[in-house]
Amino acid sequence: MRVQERCLLAIFAHPDDESFGCGGTLARYAAEGCQVHLATATRGEAGEIAAGVHASSANIAEVRETELRCACSALGIQPPHLLGYIDGQLTIVHQGQAVAKLVRLIRELKPHVVLTFAPDGVYGHYDHIAVHRWTTIAVKLAADPACFPDADGCQPHQVSKLYYTVLPEEAGDRTTAADEDAAVMMDGVPFPLVTWKREQITTWIDIKAYAAAKWAAIRCHATQVGPQPDDAAQEFIGDGREPFVLAQSRVGWAEAVEDDLFARIG
Ligand SMILES: [Zn+2]
Repeated sequence: MRVQERCLLAIFAHPDDESFGCGGTLARYAAEGCQVHLATATRGEAGEIAAGVHASSANIAEVRETELRCACSALGIQPPHLLGYIDGQLTIVHQGQAVAKLVRLIRELKPHVVLTFAPDGVYGHYDHIAVHRWTTIAVKLAADPACFPDADGCQPHQVSKLYYTVLPEEAGDRTTAADEDAAVMMDGVPFPLVTWKREQITTWIDIKAYAAAKWAAIRCHATQVGPQPDDAAQEFIGDGREPFVLAQSRVGWAEAVEDDLFARIG
């Protein structure tokens, strides 16, 4: 398969999820000529607004959508496919409709590789966990010749590989005291980051050449990182590699650690 025919679809919950976890990988595959798409379930309207950024509760959805489009541009990927849900409400929306939206998108774009959250939702964020569930179900149903939900004239599509974006066990080490667990505050409560051990990580993608693109995408999300992001945000660049876990494969499993999401595809 020619590289231009390769298609990757990342499916996340909020503007910024695409940049922090796997922005370097998205930028790398786009730069190599693959079609790289992003589906984002919400416009992030429940997010906090960093000091020094011109946004308010009245326009936060518009501002964060603009930030997301800025990030896609910085990463060199296609403009986002917005699913149109409200931040913080993904567990209470009509689950069948949400899955159907993803089934249709997968059949339209025909990605070989799909990326989404692991079941842990990074730190147990309910929206992240919902998107994980929707995506894993949609990948299965998109290949179903019974054609849920498009009874008329649908073309099933089989995704070759489904990956989870994950945090390695050293995530947060550089910004967190030794006796503290790295955590994200939700409703005033620290939700610990869920990390994966080295031996659980199936795939490392070298993003050193794309660290600048990733950093540019992170900086687009000014409501989240502030107008002048500090060293803590640099943590997301890490050691120049991004980890993934291969969760489903129709093209076999590598014996060694992979360095390419498209390994063994065509
Ligand atoms: Zn998120």
